[in-house]
Amino acid sequence: MKFKDYNISSLIKEQLDEMGFTKPTDIQFKAIKHILDGEDVMAVAQTGTGKTAAFAIPVIDLLERKNRKGYKGIRCVVMVPTRELAKQISLVFQQIGKRTSVKTFGLFGGVEQEQQIRTINNGLDVLVTTPGRMFDLISQGFLDLSKLDFLVLDEADLMLDLGFNKDIQDILKHIPQRRQTLFFTATISKKIKNLAYSVVRNAIRIQISPKNPVAKNIDHAVAFIEMDDKRFFLENILKEYEEKNFIVFARTKVRVERTVAAMERVGVKTEALHGGIDQKERFAILDRFRSGENRVLVTTDVAARGIDIPTMDYVINYDLPEDPENYVHRCGRTGRGNKRGQALSFCSTGERELLANIEEYTGEEIEQYEIHEDDYKEILNDIDDPTYNWKRLLDQVNKEDGKEEEW
Ligand code: AMP
Repeated sequence: MKFKDYNISSLIKEQLDEMGFTKPTDIQFKAIKHILDGEDVMAVAQTGTGKTAAFAIPVIDLLERKNRKGYKGIRCVVMVPTRELAKQISLVFQQIGKRTSVKTFGLFGGVEQEQQIRTINNGLDVLVTTPGRMFDLISQGFLDLSKLDFLVLDEADLMLDLGFNKDIQDILKHIPQRRQTLFFTATISKKIKNLAYSVVRNAIRIQISPKNPVAKNIDHAVAFIEMDDKRFFLENILKEYEEKNFIVFARTKVRVERTVAAMERVGVKTEALHGGIDQKERFAILDRFRSGENRVLVTTDVAARGIDIPTMDYVINYDLPEDPENYVHRCGRTGRGNKRGQALSFCSTGERELLANIEEYTGEEIEQYEIHEDDYKEILNDIDDPTYNWKRLLDQVNKEDGKEEEW
């Protein structure tokens, strides 16, 4: 089935066509029809599966059809855990709804509220928001959600992880009981199920690739590389695939900064993205990456969750994640929609256990990318990094000095 066969507004179909969306992805195929029928949906789907459009397409269609005469208030709230996601998802709504009369706005903290209030007062249909700023505006009397038709909770598992459980319960006090609720999560647990059942009613349950949570159109490989050698291998790959886009995950902010500095020393341009960077700058970094101005983003798990960059070719797990679930989220940055993607993990001896946990979690062994001993040495010998060359020279001198002493 293709989008042109769907019973949705031709304004949306034309727009999807322009965006190059011809066939629905798995989650879209399973969810759109039920949402159009007015049912609640509870879906387990990872980012990269096309889940945003799976709720945006039918919600926009229903809002367009049920155009409420004279009413300018908000009819749909999409609640998300991070500001980046609020921005990204509001852009998807704006894009898909471009030819319709449906107006969407992304609301989040970290920016002045006056302009936001003005936009809300001018009339809105869809508000994509993080809990913090939304509750601020509700308590100040600037937001009225009492006539809401749709509540969408996206990345609900991350919302729980970030401690937004109470916020989700609180929003229920501000919205009508009669509404359509769409609940999306990347992973499922008892806690998530309890949360879901507290907000949805007789929901249709949808699960995408339940056994293997790693998106299917991604090739996975692991290379065994020792901790101190990782940056040279990264340099090697980034220089070899000069025209490709990369997202590189490191374990901590400090590791991110160090990796960026190491790449800079060898003339490879990268940018750091992590929670320690100011919000405005974080958006600017993502925009530069999306526009292709920068092709390598080095980041932590926290900053990159849920971010959609359609042209992402490679995910590099520079450090393996402690939590195997994050492996799935990281790899989900590539292989978006119907595209293929590559995920390469660097695994040091100390990280073997983490690798085993990931393989147990996903239920699949990750293919080993064999590096021949000579190639490994050659990559280390082929280093442009001046600081490292000095270090090597000194090491060599020290070794030779040692030999002399032994002698
Ligand atoms: P999401 O999982 O919502 O973050 O979407 C992942 C990516 O898939 C985005 O870059 C979308 O633009 C793309 N996408 C979503 N649906 C389709 C579709 N039906 N055909 C092609 N690409 C799609």
